[in-house]
Amino acid sequence: MATYDVAIVGAGPAGSAAAYRLATAGASVLLLDKATFPRDKPCGGGVTGRAARLLPFSIEPVVEDVVDRLECGLRYRHRFTRRARAPLAYMTQRRRLDHFLLQKAAEAGAEVRERETADARELDARIVIGADGCNGASAKQLGLAEDVVHGVALEANFPYEKRYARGMVLEIAVIRGGYGWIFPKGDHINVGVGGNGEEGPMLRAELRRMCEAYGIDPDAAQDTRGYRLPMRLSETRLARGRTAVIGDAAGLVDPLSGDGMYEGFLSAKLVAEAALDVLAGRAEDLGAYQTAVEQRITPLTRAGWQAKRAFERFPGATYALARLPVTFRVLQKLLQGDLPDPAQARGVELAAIRAIYAVSRVAARATEPGSRSAASS
Ligand SMILES: Cc1cc2nc3c(=O)[nH]c(=O)nc-3n(C[C@H](O)[C@H](O)[C@H](O)COP(=O)(O)OP(=O)(O)OC[C@H]3O[C@@H](n4cnc5c(N)ncnc54)[C@H](O)[C@@H]3O)c2cc1C
Repeated sequence: MATYDVAIVGAGPAGSAAAYRLATAGASVLLLDKATFPRDKPCGGGVTGRAARLLPFSIEPVVEDVVDRLECGLRYRHRFTRRARAPLAYMTQRRRLDHFLLQKAAEAGAEVRERETADARELDARIVIGADGCNGASAKQLGLAEDVVHGVALEANFPYEKRYARGMVLEIAVIRGGYGWIFPKGDHINVGVGGNGEEGPMLRAELRRMCEAYGIDPDAAQDTRGYRLPMRLSETRLARGRTAVIGDAAGLVDPLSGDGMYEGFLSAKLVAEAALDVLAGRAEDLGAYQTAVEQRITPLTRAGWQAKRAFERFPGATYALARLPVTFRVLQKLLQGDLPDPAQARGVELAAIRAIYAVSRVAARATEPGSRSAASS
């Protein structure tokens, strides 16, 4: 008999959310993390409305600002602002959020061990879940999430400026395959830039440029940190037998937005459901988790890759589509969790999304080897 029903390696948002759900349902859970909490993690700390809705409890105690305004720019030249009727995102700091989630897991009954790690193949549990992020070892140890590409991002904190309160600034196409952002926190603002993996060497200069463009003193930067963004390519295996990976360990970051907490919380929910079925004898293995990911997360990932390709190849045309009020309505519904994925939009909203996909298809053809525009790019 194994000591634990479930062992989880990594207590970030994904690991702690899974531990909370499993422990609440009565499973005996071991949750390990190599760090001591509170600990920080490079992240914008923006919890979208749809991510917050996925948690079985409120994160209000660690929310520092609530965003209902989007300011979107294109390469520091064009800009538009849209206001939403309901919150788009909740701004927190990962030091606070992750500690809060860990405490929730412990309160629910999970046995939490900090400053501890283990080989995912050697844990004394009926079910093992790898949730140790993109630099963890569990995916490799379990032979899962093998087909993942990495983006990169660099972020820093700057003195608080009231003009950024309640708003989220996104500056599109300043970095290939990505964007710059400004997020408000309680006593500072977080500014970052991120994009394709090979853009790494450009990030420092672009972060400076982003600050200068928005009247923020680049030399006031504190805690400047870079980190990788793992993005799964389709069909990558995330479960085998009674083992699975979730969150960044599974490469579930959205290719367009670079967000990963929604996917972290959702994969935690899906793996917990599959694990409870195994523990109750209703299923032999975690195969249902893989199926659920393909149904609930893969359509979003696919849409993210398509939109990313459109922005990357034809930023002007894609930006023009993005600034249409109808496109913002779709984005709003997605961020607030009222639309599971863009393909499920209806009427004119679906037409706007299809227009972006059409740009993406042209972009795909244009980058095919031998095409005239590929040769000129
Ligand atoms: C610069 C940047 C900005 C971002 N901004 C946002 C944003 O605003 N909103 C958003 O939704 N997403 C954002 N993301 C993505 C988001 O940070 C991740 O998707 C999210 O942290 C994934 O959570 P996780 O629990 O899967 O992994 P992590 O948060 O990485 O947690 C993994 C945990 O595993 C532990 N660990 C690692 N190795 C081991 C080991 N060997 N043994 C034991 N424990 C181990 C770590 O200590 C850590 O606690 C951003 C990412 C970056 C890089």
